[in-house]
Amino acid sequence: MTDTIFSKIINKEIPADIVYEDEKCIAFNDISPQAPTHILVIPRKHISKLSESQETDKDLLGHLMLSATHITKKLNLNDYRLVINNGADAGQTVFHLHIHILAGRPFGWPPG
Ligand code: AMP
Repeated sequence: MTDTIFSKIINKEIPADIVYEDEKCIAFNDISPQAPTHILVIPRKHISKLSESQETDKDLLGHLMLSATHITKKLNLNDYRLVINNGADAGQTVFHLHIHILAGRPFGWPPG
């Protein structure tokens, strides 16, 4: 299924609190933040989950990571956690690849 809530955000069919965007990705505040800073970085291209990405997505995956670090630098975040939930049992609820940027509080390990 390619038509997720995130496609609607990409297509500007529904609003989102966008903090960064470029030709390959878009980043916006999570609607249900789990930390003082909780941002999602998503590719404009639909990839349902990380394990569905292909060799041809290598540059895009690198771009997503670099965009996440760009955003953390812009927000002066030094300590943060990046999370990708891959599949329902891992906690994925929206099947459009996304990186969570979480910051602003201490995080435990292992994650729940
Ligand atoms: P995951 O559980 O890893 O698939 O993460 C999906 C995330 O998307 C959750 O943290 C949700 O709170 C977030 N989310 C769902 N709908 C929206 C929305 N319309 N705008 C912003 N974040 C959303």
